[in-house]
Amino acid sequence: MSRVNTVLGPIPAEELGIVAVHEHVGYGMPGSELDTRWWKTPEQRYEETVPKLRKFHEYGGGTFVDVTGICNGRDVDYYKSLSAKTGVHIVACTGFVGGDTALPFFERASVEYLTEHFIHEITVGIGDTGSRAGVIKVGVSRGGRMTELDKRIYRAAARAARDTGVPIMTHLAIDAENAIAIFGDEDLPLDRVLFGHVDDGVNAEKTRETWIAEQGGRVGFDTFGYETELDDPPFWARPRKDRLDHFLRFLAAGHLDKALASADANCSPLGWPGVKGHTVNYIFEDLIPDLRAAGLDQATIDTLFVGNPAAFLTIQN
Ligand SMILES: [Zn+2]
Repeated sequence: MSRVNTVLGPIPAEELGIVAVHEHVGYGMPGSELDTRWWKTPEQRYEETVPKLRKFHEYGGGTFVDVTGICNGRDVDYYKSLSAKTGVHIVACTGFVGGDTALPFFERASVEYLTEHFIHEITVGIGDTGSRAGVIKVGVSRGGRMTELDKRIYRAAARAARDTGVPIMTHLAIDAENAIAIFGDEDLPLDRVLFGHVDDGVNAEKTRETWIAEQGGRVGFDTFGYETELDDPPFWARPRKDRLDHFLRFLAAGHLDKALASADANCSPLGWPGVKGHTVNYIFEDLIPDLRAAGLDQATIDTLFVGNPAAFLTIQN
């Protein structure tokens, strides 16, 4: 039977519904939890998060994939209660946003140690939460080239993905040649990897999304909504029309089966104020209407938000 690990247990992939494939309940830089100025009470965190997830559910959203890495504020017991309260399936990850957010304990770990750790979180569980990770997060550190640590993490992720059948999602798709070489070395089929953030304002120019798709990789246009039109746009923002046109060109070139889209929003950011006016519900309030206005039919929209994520997230064994 096809299945996907959610924080409340494995479910059939057919039950995922509409999937927001790259999101965050709350993302923070490692150490932000030690800065008392940013502490939030549990009540504040719920108050910021629950209405967004309820709205997501009302709009027809089925599944929220949280790709907050191990050191960036991942909090699985909290996700379990959010999922139970709102009815939204939440998929949690193992892995790291990038080598530069792996704390020293993990920075010093061998490929073998990291592999075992990822496999444990996928097959046994994340600590004593009883929840198993449904995806593995990896990423490229700031600077645009994979560091030695990034490569160690990618290799461990590839081994864990091959052993467990759980897929990999990447933060950034730059320097994809190095990533694809590692996945090739480890015999991981590239359709088990979603190369993310091909559309962000900083990296879009440097990212070879068509080449990645031609190699067999999945491609994430997953920073939808970070637009220069926002009142206070972040440095990775991009004009709304630029990103949309970029995505439509990718689809028109015949890569629908490789395409995934998401908003990379934070429900309740940790250690930073977040980006005002941007939530996961951009998918329903802006993105899907924009795609319809551009002429995409319902079947295409279902492929993007239901079929492709289900195929990607389904555990392959
Ligand atoms: Zn993200």
